[in-house]
Parts: sequence; structure tokens; C-alpha cells
Amino acid sequence: VKTIGVLTSGGDAPGMNAAIRAVVRTALAEGVNVKGIRRGYMGLLEEDIYDMDSKSVSDIIQRGGTILYTARCPEFMKPEYQEKGAEICKKHGIDGLVVIGGDGSFRGARDLAKRGVNTVCLPGTIDLDIACTDYTIGFDTAVNTAMQTIDKVRDTSTSHERCSIIEVMGRKAGYIALWCGIANGAEDILIAERYDYNEEVIIDKIKKGRKAGRKHYIIINAEGIGDSYGMAERIEKATGMETRATIIGHAQRGGSPTVRDRVYASAMGGMAVDLLIKGATNRVIAYKNDKFVDYDIDEALSMTKDIDQHLFDLAKKLAGNF
Ligand code: ATP
Repeated sequence: VKTIGVLTSGGDAPGMNAAIRAVVRTALAEGVNVKGIRRGYMGLLEEDIYDMDSKSVSDIIQRGGTILYTARCPEFMKPEYQEKGAEICKKHGIDGLVVIGGDGSFRGARDLAKRGVNTVCLPGTIDLDIACTDYTIGFDTAVNTAMQTIDKVRDTSTSHERCSIIEVMGRKAGYIALWCGIANGAEDILIAERYDYNEEVIIDKIKKGRKAGRKHYIIINAEGIGDSYGMAERIEKATGMETRATIIGHAQRGGSPTVRDRVYASAMGGMAVDLLIKGATNRVIAYKNDKFVDYDIDEALSMTKDIDQHLFDLAKKLAGNF
């Protein structure tokens, strides 16, 4: 390869900048040119493409977000736009492309690979919902942000002897909720994968807990499991325990990446360039069984994973609702 392009696509995640920096600096160290493509596939179609040098990625390793910006580009699902994207890559001399994003972004990369652009993808999402990998860029930072926020809510919740419903991100993937459930010592965790939500059961547990002298009751709710505010009102009415809902929201997407997100994103970025230099295409980099590995995109997309049942059962035991 002579020129590698790099783009970020789908939802942003802390650590994407570390990955971009690693792609740029590894490529330059190997004598390969780099072009940045802004706003994902949207920017590719609009030819929002610029030359990157070592300085283009100065002072970004510690920053959340993505200096390349990100976007959704529904047109890119259509073959004519994929064709156009491949032609634009060729026009700009881009013979290798690194795509940082989620499953949807991998599909776009696969479609470009079919049209002769060598592609390697990195898993970038705070949700950890990519089946082929045990690690995704941004999850560690997001879950730490959520944990710290929940600690703060818990302090005040205990002082006021309140029940708190705290909504974290992860509409379809309950990893942030599950990890926080354990890390924050929540009394209940509500996630889509193990949907057994029953308000009567929760109310009963709160009443019993109060009688036993509990000073707080923390419920971690993955977004999409009902309306946290409505739930708070109903629980307060039924239990007599003051109940508040807190939605952490987009704070979980931002912030300075943790050491793990910086180091793993850097390792994956460097590996993507090495693979492209070796002539690889249609690959996804993953972290599996404590090793960085790579898979064919179609193979990666066909994999499935489920929330760790052992962790889920453990969280229930540790909640101490006996
Ligand atoms: P996240 O999980 O963080 O939302 P994602 O990469 O899965 O990330 P999507 O919105 O699904 O996010 O996909 C990002 C972009 O990838 C889409 O806007 C589109 O441009 C492209 N894309 C998604 N699905 C396909 C597909 N089937 N074929 C070609 N391109 C696709």
C-alpha cells in the first residue's frame, strides 16, 4: 500500500483519537502516506479528505470524541453509493482503509473491500456489543464514567435514605449496566438481555430492605427498559421511600480515555496498518482470550455473543436481597 485512509463511523467513543493517532504514526513510520476522511462514509462520498502528517494527530491521545468527526450515512447501504465510495478512494490513491466503528460500519467496509479497496476495521463503541471481541474502544472509559457518577448519586442517596434509579447507556447491550451493577453495588440491574422486569418484585424488595434498615436502594437501568422517571414515581408511591431517577446520558460517550482505551486503541491502530501493509483486506481486529487477533469481516458479523451469565448471577448474589 502507498496510501492509507482512515475514518470513524457510527457512534463516537473515547479512545478513537488514540486509534487514529496510531494509524497515522505507524503508517508514516513505515513510509506509507495517510489521508483522513471526515464524517465517516458521508465524508467519503463528499470527498472531505485531507492529507495527514505526524502533527495532524498531536495532542489528541488524551481527548475523547474523534478529530475526524463521525456520521451516519444511510445512503451507503445502497450499492451505487458503495461503488462511488470505492471510486473516490481510487481517485485519491487510497489503496488501504481503516474504518473505526461498530457492526454497521464494518458492513460498509466489507462492501468497499468487495470493490477493491483493502479494508481493516477496528471495533469502536462504548456498548461492547460487537460479538467477535471481548474489548471495544471506549467501553472502559464509558463504564468508568458511569461508575463514578453512580458513586456520587449513591452518596447523596444514602444521606437522604432514598431509592435511586440510574439510567446508563446500552439500549440493546447491558454491559455498562451489568459492570456498574457489580462495581457500584447496585440492588437491582435491569438489562435487555435478561429482561425480567417486574415492578411488584422490586417494590417488595425495597419494602423488605427498608424494614431491615437499608439506607438506600440503587437500581441500574439500561436505557430502553421503561421510563426511569415514571418508574421512580410509581416506586415512591408504592413504597413510601423517596425515589429519584438520574439519566447519565451522553456524558458516558465523552471524556478523556482511560489508560486501557488509550493503549488498546493504539495497539489496534498499529495492527491495522501492519495488516494493510501485508496486503490483508476485509478484516476486523478483535481482542479475544487476552490477545489481539483478526477475523474476516463476514465471519465477525456472523458471530453472536451474550451477556456473561456468571457475572449476571454474581451481581444478583452480591446485591444481598435475601
Ligand atoms: P454504533 O454501534 O456505535 O452505532 P455502527 O457502526 O454500528 O456504530 P451504524 O449507524 O449501524 O453504526 O453504521 C454506521 C454507518 O455504516 C452507517 O451510517 C452506514 O453509512 C454504514 N453502514 C451501516 N450498515 C451498512 C450496510 N449494511 N452496508 C453498507 N454500509 C452500512
